[in-house]
Amino acid sequence: MAAADLLRPALLAAARSPRMERTVSRIPVTKGLVDRFVAGETEDQAVAATTDVLGSGRYVSIDYLGEDTTDLGQASGTVSHYLTLLSSLAHRAPATDSGGRPRSIEVSLKLSALGQCLPRDGHNVALENAHKICTAAEEAGVWVTVDAEDHTTTDSTLSIVGELREDFPTLGTVLQAYLKRTEADCRDLSGPGSRIRLCKGAYKEPASVAYQGKPAVDEAYLQCLRVLMNGEGYPMVASHDPAMVEAALAQAKATGRTTDEFEVQMLHGIRDTEQLRLVEQQQHVRVYLPYGEQWYGYFMRRLAERPANLAFFLRSLTST
Ligand code: FAD
Repeated sequence: MAAADLLRPALLAAARSPRMERTVSRIPVTKGLVDRFVAGETEDQAVAATTDVLGSGRYVSIDYLGEDTTDLGQASGTVSHYLTLLSSLAHRAPATDSGGRPRSIEVSLKLSALGQCLPRDGHNVALENAHKICTAAEEAGVWVTVDAEDHTTTDSTLSIVGELREDFPTLGTVLQAYLKRTEADCRDLSGPGSRIRLCKGAYKEPASVAYQGKPAVDEAYLQCLRVLMNGEGYPMVASHDPAMVEAALAQAKATGRTTDEFEVQMLHGIRDTEQLRLVEQQQHVRVYLPYGEQWYGYFMRRLAERPANLAFFLRSLTST
């Protein structure tokens, strides 16, 4: 087994450990590496980064960082941050529907940051909070997509998305190819008007529910991609993997999709040159742009994805 495969589960477990969070956050050099992946801590910084991304011809999906909230006040605080952000974005996004063209600005939400895992009535609290954000986003001309978290939340997340789509039909959702259920979810959810972001999946999941190891996950991704590209919705191909992106472009061509009928998505700070190359080829590319103070879980998942990121982090530690 490669060293990366051995390290990944440990890093993903650490991503959910408050003790590790306190330790890693106190290390001075951490901040420098965090800045590569996170666009700042405030709404003003997120809006400035959004302006840069849009200026380069790319689209954007902005995420206010935070997850696994077990405090009602904190969930309401997250809603307030999104509402502040959306009011700043209102004059930048097209005021009316873009007439079938993709919207250039989107926000991404994690339902666990909106109260989904509260012990009492978490499902309804998250639904109500997400509804407030979707209402403000609709007024601002901004799309919304609901992120996917660990597999224990998938049923609740897809059910909340289904309820919200009755009022907000353009609401998008994320499906994770590593989950064995996802090919069936792709079939169920790729109807007209749907927007599905397909990613490989970033959490530590047991073999009972998720494919393990890159070859199996890649194969599942390609199979899900085929389902989405042959479906009637708008596939959002979220991957930095050249093989996945190439397959998406080939399948879009084979299924007769125009460039307005799907998009490629990558994370802020990863494969920037490739993002711009795709834009030059007239491809829609959306950058997932996280901001906020609660960067720890997001940052650790980025370290887990790529041993080189971890090696860089460790080298920085030893050179201080
Ligand atoms: P991999 O096989 O992991 O990587 C392929 C190549 O991409 C690597 O060789 C490397 O060159 C580059 N690369 C990948 N990751 C990194 C990195 N961290 N740093 C530097 N280079 C890297 N996951 C979820 O579980 N839920 C979500 O809601 C979710 N939303 C996402 C939204 C977007 C727009 C994207 C791009 C990813 C999202 N993810 C989400 C993360 C995703 O599940 C994967 O963990 C992540 O994208 C790595 O998989 P990959 O497809 O890039 O391929």
